[in-house]
Amino acid sequence: MERTCFNTDLNEKNVGQEVSVIGWVSKKRNLGSLLFIDLRDRSGIIQITADESVSLPEIRNEYIISAKGKVALRSNPNLNIKTGKIEIIAKEIKVINTAKLTPIIIADETDALEDTRLKYRYLDLRRPVMQKYMDIRHQIKMTTHSYLSENRFIEVETPILTLSTPEGARDYLVPSRVHHGKFYALPQSPQIFKQLLMIGGFERYYQIARCFRDEDLRADRQPDFTQIDIETSFLDQDQFLTMMEGLISKIFKNTINYDVKLPLRRLPYKEAMDTYGSDKPDTRFDIKLTDVKEIFKNTTFGGFQNVEAIKAIKVDNVADKTSRKVIDELTLEAKKFSLGGISVIKREADQWTGSFVKFLSEEEQKALIDKFDIKNNDIVIIAAGNYNRVCPLLGAIRLRYARELGLIKPNTFDLLWVVDFPLFEKDIENGKITSSHHPFTRPKDEDLKYLDSDPTKVLSYAYDIVINGYEAGGGSLRIYDQDVQKKIFQVLGLSDEDIKRKFGFFVDAFQYGTPPHAGMAFGLDRLTMILGGTDNIRDVIAFPKNLAASCPMSGAPNVVDQDQLDDLAISITDMEK
Ligand code: ASP
Repeated sequence: MERTCFNTDLNEKNVGQEVSVIGWVSKKRNLGSLLFIDLRDRSGIIQITADESVSLPEIRNEYIISAKGKVALRSNPNLNIKTGKIEIIAKEIKVINTAKLTPIIIADETDALEDTRLKYRYLDLRRPVMQKYMDIRHQIKMTTHSYLSENRFIEVETPILTLSTPEGARDYLVPSRVHHGKFYALPQSPQIFKQLLMIGGFERYYQIARCFRDEDLRADRQPDFTQIDIETSFLDQDQFLTMMEGLISKIFKNTINYDVKLPLRRLPYKEAMDTYGSDKPDTRFDIKLTDVKEIFKNTTFGGFQNVEAIKAIKVDNVADKTSRKVIDELTLEAKKFSLGGISVIKREADQWTGSFVKFLSEEEQKALIDKFDIKNNDIVIIAAGNYNRVCPLLGAIRLRYARELGLIKPNTFDLLWVVDFPLFEKDIENGKITSSHHPFTRPKDEDLKYLDSDPTKVLSYAYDIVINGYEAGGGSLRIYDQDVQKKIFQVLGLSDEDIKRKFGFFVDAFQYGTPPHAGMAFGLDRLTMILGGTDNIRDVIAFPKNLAASCPMSGAPNVVDQDQLDDLAISITDMEK
């Protein structure tokens, strides 16, 4: 097909040249003797102008046409588009294919419902902003390939049909036709395989890996998603993080031309929780959690007595905006974190106000003023109870205020490592111990002594990279001592039988010279969201699922033929209506 260039390859330097372009009709305006067409290809828009001398077929929006003609300067430039100073004066226009009226408008701004966008995803993808997201995604991948290859990494694929992997989510299962009653699991990550590749002597592995987790969906989660998965041998934590900082800074540079300041800050998990109430803190604004337990050591208020933690945040200059309704909403938020409530006091006309003030002694009121450097119109929000509930609640409230008050500057990026995570989490309700990351995370040497007596005290060599309050990736140094690995499985309550069935092959491999190794995975989808400036993960995946884990376009998941079920020896006992 005749095409000399993409639309936006052209600029003033091409004026006078004869060119041929091809694309979709984005817009047309008929001004009597002149027809103007905005022609869209993957690179962008160019204006085609045709006068009466050109024989014109019928042209409608989204028809594919080719146009041949001369590049000329425009008399009325449009500085909003890249090619806005020029146009192509057509000599010939041909229709390559026609198009029905599209059910969604092909433009950056859309008011189409998301399910309609997903049903006609191929049209939604034609919108320039969607092409921009896909391009950023591609740039991230290209940068990853080149940076890691330069650093002697090798890409290796690992199986999609495999055994259950231990990332803590529910598995997607695939029934075996050959072995009735047995199932493959889709990988939640290539974790076990990449560690085996280290035992296999590869030293530096990566893979842009598809992962599958059957979890309830949220704005930043999808059932199938993609990780930049990495594993290395013989690097200590600092060496490894430095190497990963090189990758992330190259990605920022190559995609959005942003210079990341290195080295990144390393914030211990405990400090992140204490100060920001989150293990993925957004540190672009300055509201911090403060421990106020000491101030209330003689409190007469029952809700503050005998509690593990009392913490507070101060928000400047919002007392007048913090209505009864807002306080009720904050109280509801507290209930979500299983806390009885929250105490809000306001500073107005040099007085503390709010229904909670009656529980505060003179001394406590004064101490709060000193602690927070209080001014009129400030508020203090206090939460008391279990530390693991109080911190995330105040963390969520600080974020809410930051968003509402516009405290986060657009187009700013805040990157940091959160390090020294606890190795285990204990369920507040049932006391059950689970791995915070996965069971192969290496405990800190100095904490091994607590494995028997108080496992929740054990910290680990685990790290997350946090960007603008998103967990953009995470990993750890791995256990490479077989006995420590067995011990961890025991603490997690796995019987010898379980260990053998689930991880037997893995534990066996550790006997044959396992190098000290470390790795991580970056969430490719989340990185693309952050760099593309969207907070919807479905915008950065070509064919995503909706929040009900379905694909409105293909109809997946769907029923299958009885023959297929018979082959698998499966009978359905409870069918969705
Ligand atoms: N497999 C881990 C994950 O998917 C990352 C890692 O530890 O490398 O979160």
